[in-house]
Amino acid sequence: MILSKEILEVQEKARRIAEEEFTKDVLDEIESSGTFPRRILERMRDDGLTGLKVPKEYGGTDLGNLAYVVALEELTRKCAIAGVYLQNPNSNGSGPLLLYGTEEQKEKYLPKVVDLEIRICFALTEPEAGSDVSGMATLAEKVDGGYLLNGRKCFISGAQLADYAVLFAKTDKYAGAKGISAFLVDLHAPGVSRGLPEHKMGLAGYPIGDIILEDVFIPAEDLIGEENKGFVNAMKTLDNGRLAVAGISLGVARGCLEEAIKFAKQTEHNGRPLAKQQAVSFMLADMNTKVTAMRELVYSAAQLKDAGDPQAGVHASMAKYFCSETCNQVAAAALQIHGEYGYMKGSEIERKYRDCRVFTIFEGSSQIQQMIIAGQMLR
Ligand SMILES: Cc1cc2nc3c(=O)[nH]c(=O)nc-3n(C[C@H](O)[C@H](O)[C@H](O)COP(=O)(O)OP(=O)(O)OC[C@H]3O[C@@H](n4cnc5c(N)ncnc54)[C@H](O)[C@@H]3O)c2cc1C
Repeated sequence: MILSKEILEVQEKARRIAEEEFTKDVLDEIESSGTFPRRILERMRDDGLTGLKVPKEYGGTDLGNLAYVVALEELTRKCAIAGVYLQNPNSNGSGPLLLYGTEEQKEKYLPKVVDLEIRICFALTEPEAGSDVSGMATLAEKVDGGYLLNGRKCFISGAQLADYAVLFAKTDKYAGAKGISAFLVDLHAPGVSRGLPEHKMGLAGYPIGDIILEDVFIPAEDLIGEENKGFVNAMKTLDNGRLAVAGISLGVARGCLEEAIKFAKQTEHNGRPLAKQQAVSFMLADMNTKVTAMRELVYSAAQLKDAGDPQAGVHASMAKYFCSETCNQVAAAALQIHGEYGYMKGSEIERKYRDCRVFTIFEGSSQIQQMIIAGQMLR
């Protein structure tokens, strides 16, 4: 796909960040400390990457979804969680306000999100409500001047880092998905507490955890979107998030392919590079074909979104489904080519293999994407 000059500039900036910042030492430090350097986030901001999907009037660069997935690919080729950090201000942090916030809410929060002054996490999942969010138990009871929230959200990305959460709760507990509303919850407000970071298999450096609400008062003006329209609005946000997971999957798969090519060229068996073994070269050919197919699907889904095409949502689902599953296949093949070295802790491929496992689970699992795609096809 031919990219515009503006998008090529974004690609170059993201590529330079990835090449210059994500050295093995930095990646190891992120893994062992569980924290991501603020310096790199600020560099992403200064290069305009934190506001790629945010309109200029709210502090963004407004270059759109194609620029966004191009940047995600470049960054995550070296570091998967860089993509999750880029996703927050561009999608899950700003998306709900852009999609269904009031003008006042947008003006008040969006410039600060893009500027990394505040962080907003997206809190939908609960212990008994993952794929099927209609089963959520968090309640928002109407009181004088606002709502009183009680409940618990779990596995929330960035819960420990965020200042606010776009948080979903039942405003009508008998109406299922039609009784859910979205609120902007100040995570420093009385009654809010957060769990310790969960021990995850991968994506070290981006904590996830619980948000617990005990009689938390939310003023009426912090309702986001219409009351009882929260489910539809959450799905619209996830629709955007899916494209990001597809872009991140593409970047990680490309990183795995590059590592595998390097290893196969450098490693000799009986004086002959591994890459000269036909079976290995065929594996690399297969991986390259898959990465190229992923890129076509992600970029075209992003273009459809930028064009406002009504099919953009289902294409984002296809991109998420195909790319997350295929990334896991490419990572497994890359690890196989590395042999025992790939299985060792601290090897780059081992980290990527662990990082990408969750891509088929979060932002709507593969089975949920299949349901969306089939539903669209068979209606
Ligand atoms: C690293 C990480 C970060 C996360 N970040 C966030 C976040 O920021 N905000 C947030 O709200 N949540 C977040 N989550 C939660 C995530 O979105 C959920 O894990 C996801 O929606 C799946 O829900 P579940 O784990 O409860 O699985 P379940 O819904 O219990 O599903 C279990 C399995 O059953 C399958 N399944 C479920 N229903 C069906 C069906 N009808 N038909 C066929 N198969 C089905 C699923 O595909 C899955 O394989 C995060 C999770 C992880 C691991």
